[in-house]
Amino acid sequence: MAVKLPIYMDNHATTPVDPRVIETMLPYFTEKFGNAASRNHSFGWAGEEAVENARAQVAALINATPKEIIFTSGATESDNLMIKGIAEMFREKGNHIITQAIEHKAVLDTCKNLEKHGFEVTYLPVQRDGRISLDDLKAAITPKTILITIMYANNEIGVINPIAEIGKITKEHGIFFAVDGVQAVGKVPVDVQKDNIDLLAISAHKIYGPKGVGALYVRRRNPRVQLSAIIDGGGHERGMRSGTLNVPGIVGLGKACEVAQKEMPEEGARLRALRDRLKAGLEAKLDEVYVNGSMEHRLPNNLNMSFAYVEGESLLMGINDIAVSSGSACTSATLEPSYVLKALGVGEDLAHTSIRFGLGRFNTQEEVDYVIEKMIQVVTKLRELSPLYEMAKEGIDISKMKWQTA
Ligand SMILES: *Cc1c(COP(=O)(O)O)cnc(C)c1O
Repeated sequence: MAVKLPIYMDNHATTPVDPRVIETMLPYFTEKFGNAASRNHSFGWAGEEAVENARAQVAALINATPKEIIFTSGATESDNLMIKGIAEMFREKGNHIITQAIEHKAVLDTCKNLEKHGFEVTYLPVQRDGRISLDDLKAAITPKTILITIMYANNEIGVINPIAEIGKITKEHGIFFAVDGVQAVGKVPVDVQKDNIDLLAISAHKIYGPKGVGALYVRRRNPRVQLSAIIDGGGHERGMRSGTLNVPGIVGLGKACEVAQKEMPEEGARLRALRDRLKAGLEAKLDEVYVNGSMEHRLPNNLNMSFAYVEGESLLMGINDIAVSSGSACTSATLEPSYVLKALGVGEDLAHTSIRFGLGRFNTQEEVDYVIEKMIQVVTKLRELSPLYEMAKEGIDISKMKWQTA
């Protein structure tokens, strides 16, 4: 059977909305359009009921209680709120924050912004496998440290950090632990109690929900976490996030969480098998391919690989019926190759030829097999045109060659 093209394999960037999620959302655009803050009529009550139902669905997925869930416009806002909210609330206590080099920009740029306002930020390096070192983390803590923010799983390489171990350290030191959970929630079991997480950012559109809606978990017990708001207004969401609630979006996020919770074990196993099939298929026919980041501590749906001796741009052009993401400069808004791969110690050449395969709920084995064949065909063809690959095959050490300039 022929696969339908183009193939979408970029599920870390966004996911299509699950039809079950859309169906649940639809009434809240039409007959149930009430403002969840309207207290005087049934339209408002229906909206409020739907929001509270969604709050419980989100909470259940991460082992929280409904009152600990704040709805936002997405994880960029949640990341901003958890970091700036703690920084402002506790600035008398200390001005030091610890994060790591390969966080999402929503975290890194928030930290950079705080540095302009008197905060000191430590950006921990990552090891070759893409995880932070716990010894580095412990060494970075000072009496002024008020917040440690480390992502659960990385969006480029899918590597999962030692979250429970970090949670133990933050707890021992009485430091708040804020986690960007976007790529992990709904994909692997996330438990805010077990891991001692105090704040957790979630996005709907990475888990088959709609774009423009997210949540922030804010711990209420042991300890009770207080936050300064970054958006002022009508005092919605217990004063932490003013603004009329996006009821259809929130309903969609809730449903997406419910589906994810129910299907996670089966879906995780299925995607892991597809991912491993993809990796094995590529490695069977191509030499000089390198996985970026730990395979052991990794999301089941992620594969990030570099293909030596090809040109990044030509590779992407060759596979233009497959939607993937690349660590190459040419495809992204910035001119640098991926800062994530650079932090791992991946050289520029290999960073430029890296491909992130992000498998998702709607990918099939036929699609994976198509991607394997296409990648092999394109990489092989590009290498046939590459004098460097030919020389390397002949055993010439290219790194030792002296280049003649005209
Ligand atoms: C997508 C993503 C975000 C941003 O989420 P939005 O809801 O799109 O604002 C933050 N962190 C990580 C790790 C992401 O993958």
